Amino acid sequence: MIFFNNPEFSKKEIDNLKFLTKTKNLGSNGYFTKNCSNWIKNNLKCREALMVHSCTAALEMTAILINIKKYDEVIMPSYTFVSTANAFVMRGATPVFVDVNYDDANINFEEIKKSISKKTKAVVVVHYAGIACEIEKIKKLCNQKKIFLIEDAAHSILSKKKNKFLGTFGDFGTLSFHETKNVHCGHGGALIINNKKYIKLARIIKDKGTDRHAFDHKKIKKYSWKSLGSSFAISEVNAAILYAQLKKAKSIIKKRIKIWNYYYKKLRKKNYNNYDIPTIKKNIFHNGHMFYILCKKNSRNQLRTFLKKFNIETHFHYLPLESTVGGKKFGKILKKNNKSFLISKNILRLPFHNKITKKQIEFISAKILEFYKY
Ligand SMILES: *Cc1c(COP(=O)(O)O)cnc(C)c1O
Repeated sequence: MIFFNNPEFSKKEIDNLKFLTKTKNLGSNGYFTKNCSNWIKNNLKCREALMVHSCTAALEMTAILINIKKYDEVIMPSYTFVSTANAFVMRGATPVFVDVNYDDANINFEEIKKSISKKTKAVVVVHYAGIACEIEKIKKLCNQKKIFLIEDAAHSILSKKKNKFLGTFGDFGTLSFHETKNVHCGHGGALIINNKKYIKLARIIKDKGTDRHAFDHKKIKKYSWKSLGSSFAISEVNAAILYAQLKKAKSIIKKRIKIWNYYYKKLRKKNYNNYDIPTIKKNIFHNGHMFYILCKKNSRNQLRTFLKKFNIETHFHYLPLESTVGGKKFGKILKKNNKSFLISKNILRLPFHNKITKKQIEFISAKILEFYKY
C-alpha cells in the first residue's frame, strides 16, 4: 500500500519525551513550549509566537483579539478548511466567502476588493499547499481600508514570498502542527503576532483569560481573570515532540521539495487536455506541502478508483464552504464561487510524505499517465 500520509516520528521525539520526565512539568508554558516559541521567532523572524494546541485555537484567538462582534464581516476563501470560518462565526461574525484562482487555489485579489463593505473587519487568507497567495497586494489593500489581515498559514511553515516567511505579513499568522502537516506533534499550532500592540492581550487570552504570563515572569504577585480567554496553550507533551520536529524542519522540507519536484517532472506534459498541475509563480518559495492534479472531464473519481486498485491512496480536499450546512447557515456569498467548486470537484491529492521513494513516485505517475492514455 502506498499511503497518502505517513507522519514522521523518530528516536529524537522519543528522547525529548524521556527528557520530559526529568523536567517535572507536563502542563503548559514549560521548557519545550519556550524552545518551540524561540525556534519559530528565530527562524521565521517574527516578534512573537505563542504555542497553542491547534491552528484552530490560534484562529479562535485572533477573533477574540480583534474584538469580533455580531454583524461584523470577515472575508475569506470559499475553498478552505472549516476552522478558518468557524473561529469567527463563534464570535458572531458573518464569513463572506470569495472565489479562488484556478491556477493556485488561493484567494483572488479582485474578489476581495469587490467584497469589502462597511462591515468588513478582517480578511483571512490561506496559502494553499504552502504556496503564497498575493499577500503583498492584499496587505496594501487591508492597510488602505484599515481592516485586519490574518494569514491562515496552516500549510506553510518556512514557505516564503521573496525573502519573507508566510505568516509574518499580516497582523497575525496561524500555523498548524497537526499530523497531516509538514512538521507535526500529533496536534499543535502557533499564533504569530506581527502587530506588537496585541502581544500582551494574546498571552492573556491564551492563558484562560488570566495574566498568568506576568505572574510567571515575577512581574505581579497574583494572577487573576482579565479578559475573555480559554485553555489554548499546547501541552508540554506535544511541545516535546514538536521541538524535535522543528529542529529537523529544514531537512524535512528539503526532502519534500525534492518529492514535489519529482512529481512535477513526471507529470509535466506538453498538453494538459486531461489534467492540470499547479503553477509556481515568480518569487514564491513553497515548502512541498502537497502535490495535486486537477482532473478534467469529470474524471477525478474514476482515476481515484483506478489508483486504489494498485494500492495507491489518494484524497480530494475541501468542499466549497458555501455548499456546506454550516456555510449556508452562517456565511454569505455575493455570487457563486465557480472556481472553488471546480477545484473541489477536480482535485486529486497524491501520496506525499518523507518516506515515499522515487520508485513509488514513478509508479504513481506512470499509472496516472496510463489512465489518461498518454
Ligand atoms: C489543517 C488546517 C487547519 C486546522 O489545523 P488544526 O491544527 O488541525 O486545528 C486550519 N486551516 C487550514 C487551511 C488547514 O489546512
